[in-house]
Amino acid sequence: MGSSRGTYYSALKQINRFANSPLSLRRVCNSVAKSAATAVQANGCRILCLNPRKEYLITSGAYGLSDLYLKKGPLDVHRSLPDILDGKVVFIADATKDRRVQYPQIAREQGISSILGIPILDRGDAIGEIRIYTREPRQFSEADKSFLLSVADICAVIFEGAELHQLLEQDYKVSDKRRKSSRVSPLPTTTLRPTTFAHPSEEDFAKLLDFYCIEWLYEPRSFPLRWDGDKIAEMFTPDFYLPELDLYVELTTLKQNLLTEKNRKLRRLRELYPEVNIRLLNKNDFLKLLAKYGYGPLGEAKVEGVDRVLYSHAKIQRRVRTLARHISRDYAGQQLVLIGILKGVVCFMADLMQNLSIPVTMDFMAISYYGGDGQVVKITRDLDSSITGQHVLMVEDIVDTGMTLNYILNHLSAHNPASLRVCTLLDKRARRLINVPLNYIGFDVPDEFVVGYGLDYKGQYRNLPFVGILHPELIKDRKPG
Ligand code: 5GP
Repeated sequence: MGSSRGTYYSALKQINRFANSPLSLRRVCNSVAKSAATAVQANGCRILCLNPRKEYLITSGAYGLSDLYLKKGPLDVHRSLPDILDGKVVFIADATKDRRVQYPQIAREQGISSILGIPILDRGDAIGEIRIYTREPRQFSEADKSFLLSVADICAVIFEGAELHQLLEQDYKVSDKRRKSSRVSPLPTTTLRPTTFAHPSEEDFAKLLDFYCIEWLYEPRSFPLRWDGDKIAEMFTPDFYLPELDLYVELTTLKQNLLTEKNRKLRRLRELYPEVNIRLLNKNDFLKLLAKYGYGPLGEAKVEGVDRVLYSHAKIQRRVRTLARHISRDYAGQQLVLIGILKGVVCFMADLMQNLSIPVTMDFMAISYYGGDGQVVKITRDLDSSITGQHVLMVEDIVDTGMTLNYILNHLSAHNPASLRVCTLLDKRARRLINVPLNYIGFDVPDEFVVGYGLDYKGQYRNLPFVGILHPELIKDRKPG
């Protein structure tokens, strides 16, 4: 048994048409899964996307598989066809016995025999997977594999397009809100999550988890609660699973009748699955959580003086990791001295150095400013060690007019380092007076006074885990510090 070239060709044509359609990611992937499964004469197909930390596989579309099978539990990428991560095609002849299958028992119950896994690669990096399922044990031909590898290439483009779309949409929503109200706190953006939420509050909760850098999976498991003979008569699917905490979370509204029903299901679930850790989060708890970092209706007064969050903690961490990767690559095989100016740089310096994979030492300077007609900057604490002949990276929290950095770079150059570069978390380009060279930049920051993540206003706010914009009314006689 095998498909003809014509079958593959028409399936690819159809898949390309879906890929280029305005449908949602879920619907595109469902259609691609159907076309792919049909073309290779299989019973089911699932298109999976790796989460940003590459630990779990998340369904972005499926065909021919039961809800119970799709929601059998979190798919751990290291336990479920792990070779896919190395970009390999994986064939499982008998899914009920193979150790590379994470849930063999459910494969048996659902009558699944063979599985073929095809990696979805983006410039050589695995970002997802196509899985093909058959009820009868069978082999796949080289032509099948070659066809599915082409489908995987199309899926990579679909994912990339969806991610771009998601980011643009977030930006649009944020700027649209800002047009309507200058006091709105936008939630942070995320990288691609192929998740379709049933309710907006679930989406807010997911963003909050992102904000706290807590990994989450949406509805990964359905728990059968009642059976009618062999058939499952009632199931319960908690909204979220937080793998690091091994915790399921169900969000609730304040409607009493729904709450009573949910409580009943939860009691039953706890009876049947005592090992499962689940928490009901009621709306008040949820709003309090959102409020903690200035989001939602309870949020405004929380961090008094902060108008809105500009870069969330999660977003900063992602950017710092990327900067560290670039720096480690550029200085590979060399020893680097990191130099920071106290005190604003402490958070950034601490996070950056922990993410560097090259050997580093660090040193700090302190400066003071004297007001008056012309600002005079003075070094009040100089370096502990000589930098002559060393590779030096000046780490800055923010570059505004560029005057401080210019002064410091002149001072450091006089000591003849082997090289001297600059890495700044924030670049407030609009206010630049002196054109200082910046080699690594975290974010281009708008012309607003920002605080948090080390940056202060009159000594306060340094401990905020995000960078936020200070309410303009609060800033009167601001001075750098
Ligand atoms: P520059 O010499 O580039 O004008 O200023 C650099 C210093 O000014 C920074 O190191 C920082 O201490 C302070 N600064 C400039 N813009 C801001 C801001 O938006 N927020 C805070 N907290 N400090 C700022």
